[in-house]
Amino acid sequence: MAELQYETLSFMEKEDDVVVTLLKLFKTSIPKAELAKIAGYKVEKNKIVFNLGQKKAEFRFSSLLNKHFEYLKNIITGNDGTYIHRNSGIPLIGNVAFGIVYRESSIIEIKPVTSCNLDCVYCSISEGISSKKNDFVVEEEYMVEELEKFLGWLDEDVEIHIGVQGEPFLYQDMSLLISDIQKMKRVHTISIDTNSTLLSKEKIDVLAKNSKLQVNMSLDAIDEKIAKNMAGVKNYNVKHVKDMIAYASEKLKVILAPVLVKGYNEKEIEEIIKYIKTLKKQPILGIQNFLQYKTGRSPGKEMSWDDFYTLLEKLEKKHDIKLKLQKEDFDIRKLKPLPKPFKEGDEVQAVIKSMDRFTNSVIAVSKDRNISVPGVRYQKDKKINVKIVRDKHNVFTGKVI
Ligand code: SF4
Repeated sequence: MAELQYETLSFMEKEDDVVVTLLKLFKTSIPKAELAKIAGYKVEKNKIVFNLGQKKAEFRFSSLLNKHFEYLKNIITGNDGTYIHRNSGIPLIGNVAFGIVYRESSIIEIKPVTSCNLDCVYCSISEGISSKKNDFVVEEEYMVEELEKFLGWLDEDVEIHIGVQGEPFLYQDMSLLISDIQKMKRVHTISIDTNSTLLSKEKIDVLAKNSKLQVNMSLDAIDEKIAKNMAGVKNYNVKHVKDMIAYASEKLKVILAPVLVKGYNEKEIEEIIKYIKTLKKQPILGIQNFLQYKTGRSPGKEMSWDDFYTLLEKLEKKHDIKLKLQKEDFDIRKLKPLPKPFKEGDEVQAVIKSMDRFTNSVIAVSKDRNISVPGVRYQKDKKINVKIVRDKHNVFTGKVI
């Protein structure tokens, strides 16, 4: 008898299939007939029991799982998903949407998940419930191992910024990941951007055990109608978000980061200032000016930087509050470059390992780096020859030759 127990998976029987849920965010279905071919079995919540020896059951079930992980779907959006784990053959450097992104600065970005539960009108990456992109989720242990290796090579004191394409608390292992990074000696700060909707007092209490953590929380309006309109979803609960900001500010270092979008919330910025002034412990306010990105949504025109700073100055004086954050407010240093195994213009052979974010684009792997290759149909493990057309910061794009 083999008992296979998982922390990241749960199982549920549904008609002729067993539905497997990964990290509470993705699911796939395994036909019962395929499971029965392994041996007699029984599923429980996080467990599957086979009438077979442990080693054989582990091997056969993991092959079956890998096969059906090819058809992972995001539970929120129904989009395709890719699980990146130790044995996936997908490294964590080379793609801007997941893994480790190092821009030769003392702030290193890590991205364990993509996907968002909102649909903000100004989202710079068009993320959210209307997104049609492929999503990624990275195994927590793999992320930690690779980050440790990277920090060992870098040998510098750094900030780790969890800045995902989406909402980071959709990642079931986020608290675990933060507590693992907290233990890393070379990390002095862990910062994370969140829309705050998925936080609870209990979660904040757990997060508050990490002394290095700084949480950057969004709040774009106090008025419920404007807040819902900006978040792009009807169920956005501004009261909950305000409660979380108030609670987190007492327990953690919090930066409140509203995005000022012309025509939407100019007046609301003042209401946000008034609101944070009522809090027991006032978070730092870091207002951002909406900028139009090629990949982002377009809610209207940008506010000019002159108008933006004039508005901030006016509000600073009126409310006696610091709003213009300077570069010195952040500890950013330039650090050594990470060697590139190939550079722009090189021709390399690579193996297709996954779909990329956009349809008709794949991730091919060569020399421990991911290369985004547009215009290619996904065929797992197919070898292709590509010419590197972008290599900045070890984020690679290639063109099939
Ligand atoms: S919360 Fe962030 S990632 Fe999600 S839709 Fe809004 S801006 Fe985009």
